Amino acid sequence: MGVVREKVHSTVSESGPEVNGRRVAAFLDRDGTINEEKNFLSDPGELSLIPGAATAIRRLNDSSIATCVISNQSGVARGFLNEDDLVAIHDTLKQQLKKDAGAHLDRIYYCPHHPTAGIAPYNISCECRKPGIGMLERGARELDIRLDRSFVVGDRIVDVQVAMAVGATSILVLTGYGTTTLEECKAEHVSPDFVAPSLSEAVEFILQSVYDDGESTTHE
Ligand SMILES: [Mg+2]
Ligand SMILES: [Zn+2]
Repeated sequence: MGVVREKVHSTVSESGPEVNGRRVAAFLDRDGTINEEKNFLSDPGELSLIPGAATAIRRLNDSSIATCVISNQSGVARGFLNEDDLVAIHDTLKQQLKKDAGAHLDRIYYCPHHPTAGIAPYNISCECRKPGIGMLERGARELDIRLDRSFVVGDRIVDVQVAMAVGATSILVLTGYGTTTLEECKAEHVSPDFVAPSLSEAVEFILQSVYDDGESTTHE
């Protein structure tokens, strides 16, 4: 599957890339994409950033591309941690990104649910658990984002699937579970639009896509 190059009024202005006045976003998975995969991380002290991740997010910030974390956290439903623990982990994440590269995230969305496992009130079928599109829709609403011109970066097949579900560009990273996921994608006939060794190269691809596009429409 290639990257869709639909001709719309896409511009790159001082306020960043826009499509028909709406923003472009990078929706980023958390575990295995921004920070090292730790199998139900519950202690903020265990959070460690993947090399280059903070700088990559800073580059998105500098290009005024909205940055939203979209993270399945069924550890909450399973009783491994609670939402206060998640808040503490996300505070640490924000601090580390800032300290490492002056980077920030515009939103951090997470799904605490699981459809079958776990405890009330979290053991429900929901719209937010990836590959459900609830977190993307919320980002689109809150930040005025055009999803079909945006990007989803992650290390699991659900990250690729949630991108496909809204017509966004899917980028599979080979950090976290990415190498295993690449095999799974082949077996399931799911094709990410781009495969990147890590978030750094994924962001390089995003910036190239956005800016190539902006230039081509500017000169028309
Ligand atoms: Mg992940
Ligand atoms: Zn959910």
